[in-house]
Amino acid sequence: IKGILERFKKGLAKTAQLFNVRSWLGRKVDQAFLDELEGRLIQADVGVAATARIIDSVREAFAEKTADEELVGFVKDQLKELLRDPSPDALLVASKKPSVYLIAGVNGSGKTTSIAKLAQRLRDQDKSVVLAACDTFRAAAADQLSIWAGRAGCEIVRGAPGADPASVAHDACQRALARGSEILIVDTAGRLHTQTHLMRELEKIKSVVQRQIPGAPHEVLLVLDGTNGQNAIRQAEVFTKSIGCTGVILTKLDGTAKGGVVVAVRQTMKLPIKFLGVGEGIEDFQPFDADAFVESLFS
Ligand code: GDP
Repeated sequence: IKGILERFKKGLAKTAQLFNVRSWLGRKVDQAFLDELEGRLIQADVGVAATARIIDSVREAFAEKTADEELVGFVKDQLKELLRDPSPDALLVASKKPSVYLIAGVNGSGKTTSIAKLAQRLRDQDKSVVLAACDTFRAAAADQLSIWAGRAGCEIVRGAPGADPASVAHDACQRALARGSEILIVDTAGRLHTQTHLMRELEKIKSVVQRQIPGAPHEVLLVLDGTNGQNAIRQAEVFTKSIGCTGVILTKLDGTAKGGVVVAVRQTMKLPIKFLGVGEGIEDFQPFDADAFVESLFS
């Protein structure tokens, strides 16, 4: 847990700076204080609804008192409460191999990088991993994925440029079954000429996977750019409506003061946050832990 906390701290330093909790201490909890706190939560992308809830309960419990460690603990608890998720944070593991994880997200969200990070993480746990490069429109992304796959020791199944993504998914399922692989990670396109085309393609890939492997996909993970704020939430709505996401990978939380977007995504989408991307390196990837996350915002 200490390692996780350190990584979070590094990734969320800007949000912590924005909160600047030390500056709260000793101040009177009056309207000016509440307005400022509200502004900081909004700026950090915590979202309007969650921010209003926090401000109301702080007003109720601390109005006209002096802001102290108790108030800090109170706000932390509120955030932890908003992030609480009854489902387990670990990825679902199928009772029969392979477990299939479908990864979706718009281009530029950090999808390729996140897949590489996830594959590396699973390899570090000694799991056998096959990658399906179903984004056949972006040869460069598939090349990049091949390089990562080679380094991590994963097999990659890819089609010729422009090949039917569903047929790549089909071949990858067969390969994973034949090899007895534990995990199949399916990359998907992040942009087609229209949103309808994209969603239709994702649905097609999903149904191919479902036909090949009963119970699959075991997770549908949506990669969202954490610097995108409310836009990320709109994307999540579109994807979830179409392919039914089971969790979110939120990227690029380093280098932005918008770490609060984690709360907004969790609140608005009711989806579990599975991992956070906190840098460009393969190891800059953390399973989400609400307590460690909130603690690092207040350090
Ligand atoms: P894709 O188009 O969604 O596949 O996105 P890529 O994986 O190619 O990532 C787009 C850019 O974002 C690249 O320059 C990545 O290095 C960068 N990136 C991805 N994840 C993170 C992250 O967690 N933090 C930072 N700082 N950069 C990231």
